[in-house]
Amino acid sequence: PRLTRADLDSLPSYVPGRSPADLARELGMTEAIKLASNEVPYGPLPGVVEAVTAAAAGSHRYPDMGVVELREAFAERLGVDADRIATGCGSVALAEHLARVTCLPGDEILYSWRSFEAYPIIAATTGATSVRVANTAGHGHDLGAMSAAITDRTRMILVCNPNNPTGTAIGRAALDRFLDSVPDDILVVLDEAYREFITDPDVPDGLRTYGDRPNVVVLRTLSKAWGLAGIRIGYLVAQPSVAATVRKVVTPFSTSLVAQAAALAALKQADEVERRCALVVAERDRVTTAIRDLVPDVPASQANFVWLPLGAGSGEFAAACEKQGVIVRPFQGEGVRVTIGTPAENDAFLAAAATAL
Ligand code: PMP
Repeated sequence: PRLTRADLDSLPSYVPGRSPADLARELGMTEAIKLASNEVPYGPLPGVVEAVTAAAAGSHRYPDMGVVELREAFAERLGVDADRIATGCGSVALAEHLARVTCLPGDEILYSWRSFEAYPIIAATTGATSVRVANTAGHGHDLGAMSAAITDRTRMILVCNPNNPTGTAIGRAALDRFLDSVPDDILVVLDEAYREFITDPDVPDGLRTYGDRPNVVVLRTLSKAWGLAGIRIGYLVAQPSVAATVRKVVTPFSTSLVAQAAALAALKQADEVERRCALVVAERDRVTTAIRDLVPDVPASQANFVWLPLGAGSGEFAAACEKQGVIVRPFQGEGVRVTIGTPAENDAFLAAAATAL
């Protein structure tokens, strides 16, 4: 007999980046390079390992379910009240919670596509209907078409800025216009997972620019610039009633003891984060320039990865890079996303790409 929902059979799985240890074994190399999951390559921030180790001494007790100290730390850093903050097991969990608090079965979640691969999974598991609006020819959000796609059933809109996997970012005037066009009973989630890598002054900080709009939620993570991908901690800033509702539906204690300790330690390292992001950005610009000699239509990226719109050749390109020990992320038939690594890793990628193409 069928024990799980039939509609989930056709749901695509979230594809994690391949393990570099696994590839190295296959190739008989000592080490493979992973540029597939948008991590920052410089290791945990100073103090994080010590904080995690110290916290582990209390592992037999549940963590603070209210996440009080950490929410206060976020609040102070961001200049908002702590009652506007919710934390979760990665920002991807918070995106799912937001879908749960806004949508009943049959309601619609609207987003640009291609965008973050978790969005369709989140919509489907909630029982909501995904409404996807195709990216522009320049691989960015088509905000005019997204406005036009709003219906009576739209409950949540996901705007990924900068967009994963294309790296494109939305400027101030376009985002102003779009938000003005959205009815005030629809929640707009500005997914800013890559906020720290933005250098274009025209791309607005979602919180500073739109934080006072009651229907806007800003979603962020410590997985990327803050180096805590493996610890799993994301946060959102919303109006207090929305944040409180999210805190009610989170899986109890899902911001673990270790995650809270690691995040508190990481937040003390803002200067180091800024320094690392500057390195990543310089490399992003170097890789973009170099790769454009091979793939001329690579869009400008405001994130810590670049998008190679290789269409039907994407799978083959990624496989050729893998054979040379570099793991990148293909999106079959569309393109390849390449995370910015250390200068040496990026050189290895550029060499692999030159051979592959
Ligand atoms: N949003 C976007 C746009 C992402 O690319 C990612 C990670 N790939 C996430 C959210 C989720 O990150 P995490 O769950 O690690 O916070």
